[in-house]
Amino acid sequence: MDLDLTDEQRLIQDTAREFTDREVVPRARDSDRAARFDRALAGKLGEMGYLGAPVAEEYGGRGLDYVTYGLIVEQVGRGDSAMRTVVSVQTSLVCGTIERWGSEDQKRAWLPRLCSGDALGCFALTEPDSGSDAASLRTRATRDDGGWVISGQKMWISLGNVAEVALVFAQTDPEQGHRGLACFLVPTSSDGFHTQEIHGKLGLRASDTAAISLDEIRLPADAILGEIGDGFKVAMSALDSGRYSVAAGCVGICDGCVEASVEYSTDRKQFGVPVASFQLVQELIADMVVRRDAARLLVRRAGALKDKGEPNTVETSIAKLYATEAAVECANAAIQVHGGSGYVDDHPVERYLRDARVTTLYEGTSQIQKLIIGRGATGVDAMRPHQE
Ligand SMILES: Cc1cc2nc3c(=O)[nH]c(=O)nc-3n(C[C@H](O)[C@H](O)[C@H](O)COP(=O)(O)OP(=O)(O)OC[C@H]3O[C@@H](n4cnc5c(N)ncnc54)[C@H](O)[C@@H]3O)c2cc1C
Repeated sequence: MDLDLTDEQRLIQDTAREFTDREVVPRARDSDRAARFDRALAGKLGEMGYLGAPVAEEYGGRGLDYVTYGLIVEQVGRGDSAMRTVVSVQTSLVCGTIERWGSEDQKRAWLPRLCSGDALGCFALTEPDSGSDAASLRTRATRDDGGWVISGQKMWISLGNVAEVALVFAQTDPEQGHRGLACFLVPTSSDGFHTQEIHGKLGLRASDTAAISLDEIRLPADAILGEIGDGFKVAMSALDSGRYSVAAGCVGICDGCVEASVEYSTDRKQFGVPVASFQLVQELIADMVVRRDAARLLVRRAGALKDKGEPNTVETSIAKLYATEAAVECANAAIQVHGGSGYVDDHPVERYLRDARVTTLYEGTSQIQKLIIGRGATGVDAMRPHQE
């Protein structure tokens, strides 16, 4: 694996760092306090080309490789995970999925608007009774008059209240199990598409999260993404990219923790010396540095495999598992370095901890990542307990 970045990658990384420091960091605390989704800033992410970076230029993207996409996500993630969520959902779950599975008409209809930030998209897989076991989803798609009628409930959908288009996963034939699943492109202006904001989240307060009710939504036959029965494959391929993006964002959180902790500990004095002079404080920081670097390397490896077109599901799960758990540990340690000051939002570290916490849950919990990694190592699928 070549660890050197090209001049272009460095330039894009520097630009993303400057953009984050100028536009994202100054707004993060207020948006978090107000639990307000910043649509204007999401638009700026689009203007920068950060909402469809790996999408081909002919569809409005920047045609960047995955390693470079990861560098952008890392920077935005350092600034604000709520905004990083916009980048991850829009780019990996929505645009990447339409580009890979969509018809030419679907790509032309949605990708330029999504990549520019003119429109937002959401990815509606999870349901009230179907989370880790995604194939058990109950939203039903039935054929009617040459088209489709979709009814069901979706839960925890990022950007669900603000999106113009939703990728909705539904069951076309319950007897077929996961082979009956299909993905539909649903304009959120459709009759029967209702959303409700989910309040009271521990973190990601400035990220929009919705419960969605789909009430007999009528769609034309060509609203399907891919073929009937492709739904599970569509979802898994989207998550392969989404998990990479979440992991890259978590490297950003780890980096932010190191930066904030170094700055604070070299400034704050106790017993007549900066607290950075104490070996026990240095241990906290050293552990953060090691976790950040290890997470970054694992993300880089997953990105390099994606760029080479090689299988990378296990490596992506390793990166996601390690980086998300590292972000939680780094944020917790960073609060410790800050003492009481770390417990309030004058410093970013308490928000880092609250925001990092969800990353070990969504796009496959840490337990699910371990099962994917274990399956890769042993060849045995332990996802389902043995049933008589
Ligand atoms: C803020 C937020 C944003 C989200 N955004 C989206 C989105 O945009 N789109 C979307 O579709 N979903 C989204 N989700 C949903 C998220 O992906 C799910 O919460 C996640 O997949 C876990 O599902 P669950 O919450 O139903 O937990 P469950 O699946 O009920 O899991 C509960 C516990 O059981 C464990 N468990 C489950 N199965 C196994 C097993 N086989 N072996 C061992 N342990 C197991 C889990 O690890 C966990 O500890 C979001 C969630 C949150 C909180």
